[in-house]
Amino acid sequence: MKKIGFIGLGIMGKPMAKNLLKAGFDLSVYNRSKAPMEELIALGAKGASSPKEVAENSEVVITMVRDSPDVEQVMLGKEGVIEGFKEGRIAIDMGTTSLEVTRKVAQEFKKRGIRFLDAPVSGGDKGAIEGTLTIMVGGPKEAFNECLPIFKAMGKNIVHMGDNGYGQLAKLCNQIMVSLNMLGIAEALTLASKSGLDLNKLIEAISAGAAGSWALSNLAPKIIKGDFNPGFKVKLLQKDLRIIMSVSDELKISLPGTSLVHQLYNALEATNQGELGHQALIKAIERLIKE
Ligand code: NAP
Repeated sequence: MKKIGFIGLGIMGKPMAKNLLKAGFDLSVYNRSKAPMEELIALGAKGASSPKEVAENSEVVITMVRDSPDVEQVMLGKEGVIEGFKEGRIAIDMGTTSLEVTRKVAQEFKKRGIRFLDAPVSGGDKGAIEGTLTIMVGGPKEAFNECLPIFKAMGKNIVHMGDNGYGQLAKLCNQIMVSLNMLGIAEALTLASKSGLDLNKLIEAISAGAAGSWALSNLAPKIIKGDFNPGFKVKLLQKDLRIIMSVSDELKISLPGTSLVHQLYNALEATNQGELGHQALIKAIERLIKE
Protein backbone atom coordinates (compact mmCIF):
# COMPACT_ATOMS: atom_id res chain seq x y z
CA MET A 1 0.00 0.00 0.00
CA LYS A 2 1.93 3.03 -1.21
CA LYS A 3 -0.77 5.43 -2.41
CA ILE A 4 -2.34 7.20 0.55
CA GLY A 5 -5.04 9.86 0.65
CA PHE A 6 -5.34 12.28 3.59
CA ILE A 7 -8.42 14.41 4.32
CA GLY A 8 -8.43 17.09 7.07
CA LEU A 9 -5.23 19.05 7.50
CA GLY A 10 -5.89 20.75 10.86
CA ILE A 11 -3.73 20.90 14.00
CA MET A 12 -3.31 17.09 13.93
CA GLY A 13 -3.84 16.16 10.29
CA LYS A 14 -1.26 18.49 8.74
CA PRO A 15 1.77 17.18 10.67
CA MET A 16 0.52 13.57 10.32
CA ALA A 17 0.31 14.02 6.54
CA LYS A 18 3.79 15.57 6.51
CA ASN A 19 5.16 12.49 8.29
CA LEU A 20 3.61 10.24 5.63
CA LEU A 21 5.37 12.27 2.93
CA LYS A 22 8.65 12.05 4.86
CA ALA A 23 8.26 8.26 5.02
CA GLY A 24 8.05 8.14 1.21
CA PHE A 25 4.33 7.50 0.66
CA ASP A 26 2.70 8.81 -2.50
CA LEU A 27 0.21 11.24 -0.93
CA SER A 28 -3.01 12.88 -2.18
CA VAL A 29 -4.57 15.51 0.08
CA TYR A 30 -7.84 17.36 0.47
CA ASN A 31 -8.75 20.09 2.95
CA ARG A 32 -11.90 22.21 2.97
CA SER A 33 -9.93 25.47 3.34
CA LYS A 34 -7.13 25.83 0.84
CA ALA A 35 -4.09 27.19 2.79
CA PRO A 36 -2.97 23.95 4.52
CA MET A 37 -3.44 22.06 1.25
CA GLU A 38 -1.07 24.45 -0.57
CA GLU A 39 1.53 23.81 2.14
CA LEU A 40 1.38 20.03 1.59
CA ILE A 41 1.39 20.41 -2.21
CA ALA A 42 4.60 22.50 -1.92
CA LEU A 43 6.14 19.56 -0.05
CA GLY A 44 5.28 17.06 -2.81
CA ALA A 45 1.67 15.95 -2.15
CA LYS A 46 -0.95 15.83 -4.90
CA GLY A 47 -3.93 18.18 -4.33
CA ALA A 48 -7.50 16.94 -4.89
CA SER A 49 -10.75 18.86 -5.28
CA SER A 50 -12.93 16.51 -3.16
CA PRO A 51 -12.76 13.47 -0.85
CA LYS A 52 -14.04 11.45 -3.84
CA GLU A 53 -11.02 12.50 -5.94
CA VAL A 54 -8.65 11.64 -3.05
CA ALA A 55 -10.22 8.15 -2.96
CA GLU A 56 -9.87 7.71 -6.73
CA ASN A 57 -6.10 8.34 -6.40
CA SER A 58 -5.52 6.16 -3.31
CA GLU A 59 -5.35 2.59 -1.98
CA VAL A 60 -5.87 3.79 1.61
CA VAL A 61 -7.70 6.97 2.67
CA ILE A 62 -7.28 8.57 6.11
CA THR A 63 -9.65 11.15 7.57
CA MET A 64 -8.72 13.53 10.41
CA VAL A 65 -11.66 15.93 10.47
CA ARG A 66 -13.32 17.61 13.42
CA ASP A 67 -16.57 15.92 14.49
CA SER A 68 -18.73 12.87 13.83
CA PRO A 69 -21.09 14.57 11.30
CA ASP A 70 -17.98 15.75 9.40
CA VAL A 71 -16.66 12.16 9.26
CA GLU A 72 -20.02 10.93 7.98
CA GLN A 73 -20.15 13.66 5.33
CA VAL A 74 -16.57 13.18 4.13
CA MET A 75 -16.79 9.36 4.08
CA LEU A 76 -20.38 8.72 2.92
CA GLY A 77 -21.74 12.06 1.61
CA LYS A 78 -21.93 13.53 -1.88
CA GLU A 79 -18.43 13.64 -3.43
CA GLY A 80 -17.36 11.53 -0.42
CA VAL A 81 -14.72 8.81 -0.16
CA ILE A 82 -17.31 6.07 -0.85
CA GLU A 83 -18.03 7.48 -4.32
CA GLY A 84 -14.39 7.25 -5.39
CA PHE A 85 -13.30 3.98 -3.75
CA LYS A 86 -13.06 0.51 -5.31
CA GLU A 87 -13.58 -2.86 -3.62
CA GLY A 88 -10.61 -4.03 -1.52
CA ARG A 89 -9.49 -0.53 -0.53
CA ILE A 90 -9.14 0.58 3.12
CA ALA A 91 -10.66 3.69 4.77
CA ILE A 92 -9.29 4.83 8.15
CA ASP A 93 -10.81 7.42 10.48
CA MET A 94 -8.13 8.72 12.87
CA GLY A 95 -10.26 11.38 14.57
CA THR A 96 -12.31 10.82 17.72
CA THR A 97 -15.77 9.88 16.45
CA SER A 98 -19.03 8.63 17.97
CA LEU A 99 -19.67 4.87 18.04
CA GLU A 100 -22.89 5.45 16.08
CA VAL A 101 -21.11 7.07 13.12
CA THR A 102 -18.19 4.62 13.37
CA ARG A 103 -20.58 1.65 13.08
CA LYS A 104 -22.57 3.27 10.26
CA VAL A 105 -19.44 4.07 8.21
CA ALA A 106 -18.06 0.55 8.78
CA GLN A 107 -21.35 -1.03 7.63
CA GLU A 108 -21.77 1.14 4.53
CA PHE A 109 -18.20 0.42 3.42
CA LYS A 110 -18.60 -3.30 4.13
CA LYS A 111 -21.58 -3.45 1.73
CA ARG A 112 -19.17 -2.33 -1.01
CA GLY A 113 -16.27 -4.60 -0.06
CA ILE A 114 -14.27 -1.74 1.45
CA ARG A 115 -12.56 -2.36 4.77
CA PHE A 116 -12.75 0.26 7.53
CA LEU A 117 -10.53 0.92 10.55
CA ASP A 118 -11.33 3.29 13.42
CA ALA A 119 -7.89 4.42 14.56
CA PRO A 120 -8.09 7.37 16.95
CA VAL A 121 -4.89 8.80 18.38
CA SER A 122 -3.42 10.19 21.57
CA GLY A 123 -0.31 12.31 22.08
CA GLY A 124 -1.51 15.76 21.05
CA ASP A 125 -0.10 18.10 18.43
CA LYS A 126 3.39 17.36 19.80
CA GLY A 127 2.96 13.62 19.13
CA ALA A 128 1.56 14.39 15.65
CA ILE A 129 4.57 16.58 14.79
CA GLU A 130 7.14 14.18 16.21
CA GLY A 131 5.48 11.05 14.78
CA THR A 132 5.11 9.54 18.25
CA LEU A 133 1.31 9.18 18.48
CA THR A 134 -0.41 6.33 20.27
CA ILE A 135 -2.85 4.75 17.81
CA MET A 136 -5.77 2.59 19.03
CA VAL A 137 -7.24 0.55 16.19
CA GLY A 138 -10.58 -1.22 15.71
CA GLY A 139 -11.49 -3.28 12.64
CA PRO A 140 -10.39 -6.30 10.61
CA LYS A 141 -6.99 -7.60 11.83
CA GLU A 142 -5.66 -8.24 8.30
CA ALA A 143 -6.44 -4.64 7.30
CA PHE A 144 -4.64 -3.48 10.46
CA ASN A 145 -1.59 -5.58 9.49
CA GLU A 146 -1.60 -4.16 5.95
CA CYS A 147 -1.72 -0.62 7.33
CA LEU A 148 0.97 -1.04 10.00
CA PRO A 149 3.72 0.66 7.91
CA ILE A 150 1.36 3.64 7.46
CA PHE A 151 0.62 3.84 11.19
CA LYS A 152 4.33 3.50 12.00
CA ALA A 153 5.06 6.64 9.96
CA MET A 154 2.80 8.61 12.33
CA GLY A 155 3.00 6.83 15.67
CA LYS A 156 5.06 4.74 18.06
CA ASN A 157 2.60 2.79 20.20
CA ILE A 158 0.13 1.07 17.86
CA VAL A 159 -2.38 -1.41 19.30
CA HIS A 160 -5.13 -3.45 17.62
CA MET A 161 -8.00 -3.29 20.15
CA GLY A 162 -10.57 -5.56 18.42
CA ASP A 163 -13.48 -5.13 15.99
CA ASN A 164 -14.77 -1.82 14.65
CA GLY A 165 -15.64 0.54 17.51
CA TYR A 166 -13.03 -0.79 19.94
CA GLY A 167 -10.45 1.77 18.79
CA GLN A 168 -12.92 4.55 19.64
CA LEU A 169 -13.85 2.90 22.96
CA ALA A 170 -10.16 2.81 23.95
CA LYS A 171 -9.86 6.49 23.01
CA LEU A 172 -12.88 7.35 25.20
CA CYS A 173 -11.14 5.68 28.17
CA ASN A 174 -8.07 7.75 27.31
CA GLN A 175 -10.17 10.94 27.33
CA ILE A 176 -11.58 10.13 30.80
CA MET A 177 -7.98 9.99 32.05
CA VAL A 178 -6.97 13.13 30.13
CA SER A 179 -9.81 15.26 31.47
CA LEU A 180 -9.58 14.10 35.10
CA ASN A 181 -5.80 14.52 35.04
CA MET A 182 -6.29 18.08 33.80
CA LEU A 183 -8.66 18.76 36.69
CA GLY A 184 -6.00 17.53 39.13
CA ILE A 185 -3.40 19.81 37.55
CA ALA A 186 -5.76 22.81 37.57
CA GLU A 187 -6.61 22.32 41.28
CA ALA A 188 -2.96 21.71 42.29
CA LEU A 189 -1.74 24.84 40.47
CA THR A 190 -4.54 26.91 42.02
CA LEU A 191 -3.57 25.78 45.53
CA ALA A 192 0.13 26.34 44.74
CA SER A 193 -0.45 29.79 43.36
CA LYS A 194 -2.69 30.95 46.26
CA SER A 195 -0.20 29.64 48.84
CA GLY A 196 2.82 31.31 47.27
CA LEU A 197 4.62 28.16 46.05
CA ASP A 198 7.05 28.60 43.15
CA LEU A 199 5.05 26.96 40.34
CA ASN A 200 8.04 26.05 38.16
CA LYS A 201 9.79 24.41 41.09
CA LEU A 202 6.60 22.54 41.91
CA ILE A 203 6.40 21.05 38.40
CA GLU A 204 10.10 20.18 38.54
CA ALA A 205 9.59 18.43 41.88
CA ILE A 206 6.41 16.46 41.23
CA SER A 207 6.66 15.57 37.54
CA ALA A 208 9.24 12.82 38.22
CA GLY A 209 7.14 11.27 41.00
CA ALA A 210 3.81 9.46 41.24
CA ALA A 211 1.87 12.55 40.06
CA GLY A 212 3.85 12.77 36.80
CA SER A 213 1.94 12.79 33.50
CA TRP A 214 2.17 13.96 29.89
CA ALA A 215 -0.09 16.91 30.70
CA LEU A 216 1.93 17.92 33.76
CA SER A 217 5.16 17.96 31.73
CA ASN A 218 3.75 19.53 28.55
CA LEU A 219 0.73 21.64 29.53
CA ALA A 220 1.33 22.82 33.11
CA PRO A 221 4.34 24.94 31.95
CA LYS A 222 2.03 26.55 29.37
CA ILE A 223 -0.56 27.33 32.08
CA ILE A 224 2.14 29.05 34.17
CA LYS A 225 3.14 31.19 31.16
CA GLY A 226 -0.52 32.06 30.51
CA ASP A 227 -0.35 30.26 27.16
CA PHE A 228 -3.83 28.93 26.41
CA ASN A 229 -3.30 28.42 22.67
CA PRO A 230 -4.64 25.05 21.47
CA GLY A 231 -3.08 21.98 21.11
CA PHE A 232 -6.36 20.36 21.83
CA LYS A 233 -9.32 22.73 21.85
CA VAL A 234 -11.84 22.83 24.72
CA LYS A 235 -14.66 22.38 22.20
CA LEU A 236 -13.04 19.20 20.83
CA LEU A 237 -12.60 17.71 24.31
CA GLN A 238 -16.24 18.61 24.99
CA LYS A 239 -17.22 16.71 21.83
CA ASP A 240 -15.42 13.66 23.28
CA LEU A 241 -16.94 14.11 26.76
CA ARG A 242 -20.42 14.23 25.19
CA ILE A 243 -19.70 10.92 23.45
CA ILE A 244 -18.56 9.46 26.82
CA MET A 245 -21.73 10.72 28.55
CA SER A 246 -23.89 9.07 25.91
CA VAL A 247 -21.94 5.77 26.15
CA SER A 248 -22.32 5.88 29.96
CA ASP A 249 -26.11 6.17 29.44
CA GLU A 250 -26.05 3.29 26.96
CA LEU A 251 -24.01 1.05 29.33
CA LYS A 252 -25.86 2.26 32.46
CA ILE A 253 -22.66 3.18 34.31
CA SER A 254 -21.90 6.20 36.52
CA LEU A 255 -18.90 8.37 35.68
CA PRO A 256 -19.22 11.14 38.30
CA GLY A 257 -15.71 12.55 37.86
CA THR A 258 -15.95 12.80 34.09
CA SER A 259 -19.37 14.37 34.40
CA LEU A 260 -17.98 17.04 36.76
CA VAL A 261 -15.15 18.00 34.39
CA HIS A 262 -17.64 18.12 31.51
CA GLN A 263 -19.73 20.66 33.48
CA LEU A 264 -16.66 22.78 34.26
CA TYR A 265 -15.76 22.83 30.57
CA ASN A 266 -19.40 23.83 29.85
CA ALA A 267 -18.68 26.97 31.86
CA LEU A 268 -15.73 27.74 29.57
CA GLU A 269 -17.79 27.15 26.43
CA ALA A 270 -20.59 29.33 27.83
CA THR A 271 -18.11 32.19 28.18
CA ASN A 272 -16.75 31.88 24.62
CA GLN A 273 -13.56 30.08 25.59
CA GLY A 274 -14.18 26.93 23.55
CA GLU A 275 -11.40 27.71 21.07
CA LEU A 276 -8.75 27.74 23.83
CA GLY A 277 -6.54 24.74 24.57
CA HIS A 278 -7.99 22.31 27.14
CA GLN A 279 -5.36 23.46 29.67
CA ALA A 280 -7.75 26.45 30.09
CA LEU A 281 -9.71 24.34 32.61
CA ILE A 282 -7.82 26.24 35.32
CA LYS A 283 -9.77 29.37 34.32
CA ALA A 284 -13.01 27.64 35.41
CA ILE A 285 -11.44 26.67 38.77
CA GLU A 286 -10.02 30.17 39.32
CA ARG A 287 -13.40 31.71 38.61
CA LEU A 288 -14.86 29.79 41.58
CA ILE A 289 -12.68 31.84 43.97
CA LYS A 290 -13.19 35.23 42.34
CA GLU A 291 -15.57 37.81 43.80
P1 NAP B 1 -8.79 21.06 13.86
O1 NAP B 1 -7.45 21.67 13.99
O2 NAP B 1 -10.00 21.85 14.21
O3 NAP B 1 -8.92 20.52 12.33
C1 NAP B 1 -10.09 19.95 11.87
C2 NAP B 1 -9.95 19.66 10.38
O4 NAP B 1 -11.19 19.12 9.92
C3 NAP B 1 -9.68 20.90 9.53
O5 NAP B 1 -8.77 20.55 8.51
C4 NAP B 1 -11.07 21.20 8.94
O6 NAP B 1 -11.03 21.87 7.71
C5 NAP B 1 -11.60 19.80 8.75
N1 NAP B 1 -13.05 19.73 8.66
C6 NAP B 1 -13.94 20.02 9.66
N2 NAP B 1 -15.19 19.82 9.22
C7 NAP B 1 -15.10 19.39 7.93
C8 NAP B 1 -16.04 19.02 6.94
N3 NAP B 1 -17.37 19.02 7.21
N4 NAP B 1 -15.58 18.65 5.73
C9 NAP B 1 -14.27 18.64 5.46
N5 NAP B 1 -13.32 18.98 6.35
C10 NAP B 1 -13.73 19.34 7.57
O7 NAP B 1 -8.90 19.72 14.72
P2 NAP B 1 -7.73 18.74 15.24
O8 NAP B 1 -7.28 19.22 16.57
O9 NAP B 1 -6.76 18.50 14.14
O10 NAP B 1 -8.62 17.42 15.53
C11 NAP B 1 -9.04 16.52 14.49
C12 NAP B 1 -9.56 15.24 15.15
O11 NAP B 1 -8.53 14.64 15.94
C13 NAP B 1 -10.73 15.45 16.11
O12 NAP B 1 -11.58 14.33 16.05
C14 NAP B 1 -10.06 15.51 17.49
O13 NAP B 1 -10.93 15.17 18.53
C15 NAP B 1 -8.95 14.49 17.30
N6 NAP B 1 -7.76 14.66 18.16
C16 NAP B 1 -7.20 15.88 18.36
C17 NAP B 1 -6.05 15.98 19.19
C18 NAP B 1 -5.39 17.32 19.46
O14 NAP B 1 -4.53 17.36 20.38
N7 NAP B 1 -5.68 18.37 18.73
C19 NAP B 1 -5.52 14.84 19.77
C20 NAP B 1 -6.10 13.60 19.51
C21 NAP B 1 -7.23 13.52 18.71
P3 NAP B 1 -10.94 23.49 7.64
O15 NAP B 1 -9.46 23.80 7.66
O16 NAP B 1 -11.58 23.85 6.36
O17 NAP B 1 -11.66 24.02 8.87
